[in-house]
Amino acid sequence: MHMRDVVIIGGGPAGLMAARTLAQNGHDTVVLEEHEEIGAPVHCTGIVGREVFDEMDLDTRTILAVAQSARFHAVDGSTVTIESGQIHAAIVDRQAFDETLARRASADGAEVRTGTRVSHLRIDGGRVRVSIATGDTVTARACILACGAKYRFNRQLGLGVPKVFVQSAQLDVAFAPLEQIEVHLDNRLLPGGFAWAVPFRRGGQARVKLGLLGSQRAGSALNIFINRLAARVGVEPEGWPRPRLKILPLGPVRRTYANRLLAVGDAAGLVKPTTGGGIYFGLLSGRWAAETLDDALRRDQLDARRLRAYEVRWRERLGPEIRAGLAFRAIASRLDDSAISTLIQLANVDGLVPMLKGTANFNWHRGTALALLRNTEFRKVVLSSLWG
Ligand SMILES: Cc1cc2nc3c(=O)[nH]c(=O)nc-3n(C[C@H](O)[C@H](O)[C@H](O)COP(=O)(O)OP(=O)(O)OC[C@H]3O[C@@H](n4cnc5c(N)ncnc54)[C@H](O)[C@@H]3O)c2cc1C
Repeated sequence: MHMRDVVIIGGGPAGLMAARTLAQNGHDTVVLEEHEEIGAPVHCTGIVGREVFDEMDLDTRTILAVAQSARFHAVDGSTVTIESGQIHAAIVDRQAFDETLARRASADGAEVRTGTRVSHLRIDGGRVRVSIATGDTVTARACILACGAKYRFNRQLGLGVPKVFVQSAQLDVAFAPLEQIEVHLDNRLLPGGFAWAVPFRRGGQARVKLGLLGSQRAGSALNIFINRLAARVGVEPEGWPRPRLKILPLGPVRRTYANRLLAVGDAAGLVKPTTGGGIYFGLLSGRWAAETLDDALRRDQLDARRLRAYEVRWRERLGPEIRAGLAFRAIASRLDDSAISTLIQLANVDGLVPMLKGTANFNWHRGTALALLRNTEFRKVVLSSLWG
């Protein structure tokens, strides 16, 4: 049987970026994607810092809109708008985004097989054996686990699962044109989470991506959120498609390497813990995993000890960001609605808005999280909400 260099399980951003990097370095790479089409069905809002397109050499034609501001809403009607010349949030057509990644990987020499669900994975005798649901088998010298927020193989291999998960729901519909991105904080409706409305245009039509994440009942919470928003702008939400529900990881798994294997993207729990956004860290980790494997394949040293270099690399770059994000999230998710309103009102009169503008970065949240946690007024409100 033909032995490939690398088999990648999952054709999302993380797996496809890994495939492209490996193929560019001359490795015989195959991506196995369970769905018939790359990028479908879409679960994700698809917001990513605009600068990622240059950093990762991505196709900018998938960008639907670029936003520089967002308005935060509390339950009592208080709002604050954060607008910053430093923020360029690209809203992408997520299916087209993944498709262009797949085309680039194929053009560079990787094989991308759709409609191919991996049912079993075995690593022994100096190779990786992957069984496909149709009965075929693929063998390779190494494997990248890029199957998103599904943790069956993680459990089998002893890699662990993310410690924190939230539920999410989202919908993409024609809507009244909204002025800007809206973020709604409502602790009773969305314990530990938030809801969003992201306006954009497709084919000349005003549309919105409506979504939320929270610790429970994402589907019913989204219905309530939709009805509130639709009533405010005078839109009838009748006949809309059912929202897509999905589990979202908010922190890394215990270990992201094993003999002949690396885990990337959501499969490794590599997302921004503040928002669950994982496209950027998925692309980064896919590239880093491929670079580690490139070297290991050339030396033919594919044991766990050697592949650990990948985890050392992402922990060095993303570790402080993830730790600060998890700490901030743990505090923010316990604030009650009155503390959230107070903070939003405070932001309008205190120096919080300039501070947020000065520290805001769409892809990296540590600077803002630390600046908020160091702000005396912010700390007073948080402490009185948590222990008052
Ligand atoms: C509602 C919602 C909104 C979001 N909004 C944003 C956002 O605005 N910005 C952002 O950065 N992130 C966002 N995210 C997160 C983002 O979607 C993920 O972090 C990102 O897609 C992770 O990329 P990935 O390649 O690791 O996994 P995925 O994109 O999930 O890709 C994994 C692929 O593996 C395939 N697969 C799984 N199991 C198998 C198998 N056994 N065999 C073969 N194939 C398999 C799947 O079909 C899938 O195509 C959002 C997520 C949700 C749920």
